Amino acid sequence: KFITFEGPDGAGKTTQMKRAAQALQEKGYEVILTREPGGTEIGESIRSILLDPQNRMSHRTEALLYAAARAQHVEELILPALQAGKVVLCDRFADSTLAYQGYGRGINLNLLNIVNSLAIGSLKPDLTIILDLDPQVGLNRIRNKRLAVAGETEDRIEMEKVEFHQRVREGFLSIALQDPGRYKIIAAGMDEDKVFEKVMACINGVFS
Ligand code: C5P
Ligand code: MG
Repeated sequence: KFITFEGPDGAGKTTQMKRAAQALQEKGYEVILTREPGGTEIGESIRSILLDPQNRMSHRTEALLYAAARAQHVEELILPALQAGKVVLCDRFADSTLAYQGYGRGINLNLLNIVNSLAIGSLKPDLTIILDLDPQVGLNRIRNKRLAVAGETEDRIEMEKVEFHQRVREGFLSIALQDPGRYKIIAAGMDEDKVFEKVMACINGVFS
């Protein structure tokens, strides 16, 4: 099974995914926990180019780099893991391109769908969980977390205006409406345990 987690920065994807991975492992599943951009050596190199706040990057370059990292991720890690019967939990996937580079940056969605299909072929997640949160709340969470780690600054995308993050959030919600079977929206403003309960209810639905 292939399960992706999406949503604005600071929504708690990473935390929830770690907990879900542990719960699935306890049930005896082999779980791969991975992220985008990243997941492979090439993907992580591309990630550092994408997130470096010093880089001034054109929107099209940005879209293609996310897609390039994704193509490598699918071929090198995700497909082999799925073929081996593992459960893959992925922190962001193709929907982030539609939300960030499409709704956020304003690139044509049809073009991005083509770029996505070049990167992933016919692969489609069995379930996509969208952790939905007011972007200002998410950005505040990130800033507080970063303050705790001396010297760490926001990444290039997190530094965007809140209006950008607002469009991204609306984007995720519109995408979800197009296929209510695959997308599940969970309000991520609740406390962590409540969110986790809902996450596991969605995941259990895929395994029953
Ligand atoms: O989720 P994570 O923080 O690891 O993502 C890295 C950064 O890349 C985030 O700031 C996210 O907003 C951004 N991103 C993006 N476009 C994508 C995927 C991620 O701008 N397609
Ligand atoms: Mg982030």
